[in-house]
Amino acid sequence: MSKIHIDEIVLPAREVPVWREVDIVVVGGGLAGVGAAIAAGRAGARVLLVEAQGFLGGTMTAVTVGSICGEYVLENGTPRRIVGGLIEELVNRLMARGEARGPECWLQTATTIYDPFAMRCVLDEMIHEAGVETLMHTRCIDLDQKENRITGLVLGFRSQLFAVRCRQIIDCTGDGEVAALAGVPWECDLEHLQMPSAMFRFGGVAPGTLDTLDRAALRARLELAVAEGMDLPRTAGGLFSLRDGMVHANVTRLEHGARSPDPLSAEEMTATEIEGRRQVKLYESAFRRFVPGFEKAFVADAGSLAGIRESRRICGRHVLTADEVLRGAKSDTAIACSAWPVEDHGADRKTRWVWLEPGSYYQVPFGCLVPERGPGNLLIAGRCVSAEHDAHASLRVGATCMAMGQAAGLAAAIAIDDGIAAVGAIAIDKLQARLTADQAFLG
Ligand SMILES: Cc1cc2nc3c(=O)[nH]c(=O)nc-3n(C[C@H](O)[C@H](O)[C@H](O)COP(=O)(O)OP(=O)(O)OC[C@H]3O[C@@H](n4cnc5c(N)ncnc54)[C@H](O)[C@@H]3O)c2cc1C
Repeated sequence: MSKIHIDEIVLPAREVPVWREVDIVVVGGGLAGVGAAIAAGRAGARVLLVEAQGFLGGTMTAVTVGSICGEYVLENGTPRRIVGGLIEELVNRLMARGEARGPECWLQTATTIYDPFAMRCVLDEMIHEAGVETLMHTRCIDLDQKENRITGLVLGFRSQLFAVRCRQIIDCTGDGEVAALAGVPWECDLEHLQMPSAMFRFGGVAPGTLDTLDRAALRARLELAVAEGMDLPRTAGGLFSLRDGMVHANVTRLEHGARSPDPLSAEEMTATEIEGRRQVKLYESAFRRFVPGFEKAFVADAGSLAGIRESRRICGRHVLTADEVLRGAKSDTAIACSAWPVEDHGADRKTRWVWLEPGSYYQVPFGCLVPERGPGNLLIAGRCVSAEHDAHASLRVGATCMAMGQAAGLAAAIAIDDGIAAVGAIAIDKLQARLTADQAFLG
């Protein structure tokens, strides 16, 4: 809510029934959370996955993204996989059903195009097979903490409150919600936060349209629309297609004045959702008028949420820096690799891309997942991990988030097996060996 309030009310102390006792609770069912829950479940832990929405996949399925980034590095023009494990399994399952295609070379990298609804279905199956119990439509809203440990989570479903006791917790909320509740330090600098976008899919696009419409050509067409008086906030965008006639569009930009809307303000997020829908319709008419092949196109579906690229970044034991990203730094405590460029959606109509040396990649240290201070039984994974703004602009993509989640889930399971209360103290070589055995790529 707004940080300015007019008054305060004091709630009476209240008893909350304990509904379950489990080993590990993963909060947030985006790709990071699903990765964490499956890895921990397969390792034999009793896992509860808590997700605020009615489906899994988070941004990748709620925002209707449509392309998985971060799996590959290009070596002499050929894609080489640098993120394996669960994301590879997910992609293989989607491909086997004709619901994904890739790798597709794009700019100086390669991506996988997928169907967001099919991804929701495959994630349901993978979670079920891993023996993970899931609660959807359920939010973590408070914590029970004792002696530097989280001992329970207070969950809310509709107007009902109930609690879960657990030994390890993984915050995969994207917004660092659990970490913030636990008092872990975090950053969210509104002046430099990346801008959100509303994503949507066109239907009715003429066959073959994308064969000749590259990024530069699209930009020229949308600049023409601006010159003709259409107030488009962004003219650089990504278009990709899995099926004839259907095109995913990543073209809108949602601002609050000259800065990003505050992802932690209910008022600003409400205005952002409404502005997102307005822009989707605005771009629909711009494409129809100015982009060849889109004359009969229409908005076939749009994300159920505005896409938030960046909100809280948790302060961890290791803060990944832009320098480490761009020089392809390696780490003795690596738990994942990434070669995605710094992709920064700032206030301009363009997007700022800063590429790594061709063929190179960096490693994500375990310390990015471990809070600098706060409860010893909490890990963070996904787009709220510990990184500078520019480094975050690289590691926030789907494949890297799932890889970080997989590592966090396995780390929490190892902590339980080895009787280690502070998960940050587990044996890293053991975690790395288990990840490698599970087909994760660590370099
Ligand atoms: C517009 C846009 C375009 C993008 N394009 C691409 C792209 O083309 N390819 C790519 O790979 N990446 C892309 N990304 C980035 C990528 O999609 C995300 O950074 C990544 O998926 C984040 O995964 P995550 O699991 O860390 O978080 P999220 O996907 O944000 O998942 C967090 C989950 O936690 C849940 N949650 C939050 N708070 C609570 C709570 N208190 N209790 C319970 N549940 C909670 C949310 O409902 C959500 O499902 C894009 C992002 C945006 C915004």
